Amino acid sequence: METKINSTILSLIKGDITNEETDAIVNAANSRLAGGGGVDGAIHRAGGPKIMEECRKIGSCPTGGAVITTGGNLKAKYVIHTVGPVYRDGKNREAELLSSAYRKSLELAVSKGIKSIAFPSISTGAYGYPIDEAAEIALKTVIDFIQTKVGARHAVPLQIIRFVLFSERDLKVYEGALKKITQIN
Ligand code: ADP
Repeated sequence: METKINSTILSLIKGDITNEETDAIVNAANSRLAGGGGVDGAIHRAGGPKIMEECRKIGSCPTGGAVITTGGNLKAKYVIHTVGPVYRDGKNREAELLSSAYRKSLELAVSKGIKSIAFPSISTGAYGYPIDEAAEIALKTVIDFIQTKVGARHAVPLQIIRFVLFSERDLKVYEGALKKITQIN
């Protein structure tokens, strides 16, 4: 599924993010940047040890923040490591922190002149965020970012923003959320 917002293409696909050829891919990291399971493990395995070396030098990243390394052996030139919240009961600023993770990643991408970026579904694996809520937050944050930045004097150079969902079910949830949001808009 694909939609155009101002001049940016927002697309939702099913796939493995480590295969993406976008300028940057986003990693759902932990705050120690220590690697782990899920998409984090997959990115470090596919990208090789150089990414971890750079992560060690950076040290850490707060929840809701984002840092950048090169892409090592990946096709993507950069990896943006962001830290989503661990979901407890929804009353611990989870929504705000998840939105921040997407926004800070996009801001970092724009500051580096990145033209295309791929996101996984942050926090919806080991961190336990209910995916229907997370999808809506993710998409709203991205759409709001495109609309406000493009409305500003300097247009966002981001031409492609892609969500790479790991399962058919996750893809369907994101598609449902995007339909809902774009109908309201
Ligand atoms: P978090 O700790 O932020 O919840 P996880 O890596 O556990 O991060 O899960 C986030 C999402 O990434 C999950 O939906 C999971 O299915 C998905 N995922 C795992 N591996 C990949 C991959 N190679 N490409 C894209 N998505 C992936």
